[in-house]
Amino acid sequence: MHVLITGGAGFIGSHLADALLRRGDSVSVLDNLSTGSAENIQGLQGHPCFSFAQAGLDDVSVLDELAGRADAIVHLAAAVGVHLVLEKPTQTIETNVLGTHALLAAARRSGCQTLIASTSEVYGKSESLPFSENDDLVLGPPNRTRWVYAATKLLDEFLALAAHQEFGLPLTIMRLFNIVGPRQTGRFGMVLPRLVRQALRGQPLTVYGDGLQTRCFCHVADVVQAIVGLLGRTTASGQIYNIGSNQEVTIRELAEQIVDRADSASPIHYLPYGQAYAAGFEDLRKRVPDISKIADEIGWKPTHLLAKILDDMIDFERERLT
Ligand code: UDP
Repeated sequence: MHVLITGGAGFIGSHLADALLRRGDSVSVLDNLSTGSAENIQGLQGHPCFSFAQAGLDDVSVLDELAGRADAIVHLAAAVGVHLVLEKPTQTIETNVLGTHALLAAARRSGCQTLIASTSEVYGKSESLPFSENDDLVLGPPNRTRWVYAATKLLDEFLALAAHQEFGLPLTIMRLFNIVGPRQTGRFGMVLPRLVRQALRGQPLTVYGDGLQTRCFCHVADVVQAIVGLLGRTTASGQIYNIGSNQEVTIRELAEQIVDRADSASPIHYLPYGQAYAAGFEDLRKRVPDISKIADEIGWKPTHLLAKILDDMIDFERERLT
């Protein structure tokens, strides 16, 4: 199978490329290297079944050529990270909405299976836990910039489902929940790489608010298995799936476990939200996915427990620091 991965030089995309090549598939990566990094795919350059195009989704001729050769597309290219979204809302909207619009147009011309990455952010502030794919979505108002990301990804979902419904595009939406692991950058705000790096550098761990908000962290290797399981799966067409872990942890416990497992002497500092983020931010207290739908479809469930996730990230970051 020949798979086109948009955003393939990013954290999740590069792990997916590794896995697909390992199982004998061919992979084309399209990435403009805005948040992805050439380093992530360095080891793949020269592989006979791998190609890389440094281009944006607005480059129609490159996109059409790559989509035309693919048996499947995995669309991961997007503006990522809370900080980036708060600082550059216009760029976020353009990248996510116009990018996905262009991708879907190319996918329609090629007719190949398309997996679209969406996000747990679309559930917004819903308090109906665990979040299930048919739930109502509860977003905040547009003057709170945090919701830009959710709104753009939700529009992507609508665009994608419309392409499926009106033009028969075989297409599946994946709502990803706090995916973590080696190669993830902390530059744009993601908590786990940031806290791990702080612990290894002996700096205070910055926990925002009271630290009692919870998240469920899923190892990127598990997510890759879910994506691979959805490839070629015709019964998943027109469907939305949550992909994530349902092992809930408070950010406070997370920080304590990181200090412990990294053997760090760093203290934990609690930072009021007003100091942590630009105005317009509101945090979510809890986020837990219902993952029964994808389990029923492909028998997938996450296999990495939090302790293993933390050890992997600590090892990776330790090596990077030396
Ligand atoms: N967070 C934190 N310290 C940081 C970065 C994030 O305490 O240095 C908190 C953040 O406020 C949120 C949680 O960790 O409650 C997860 O944040 P992240 O940006 O990783 O993901 P998301 O908010 O999208 O779940």
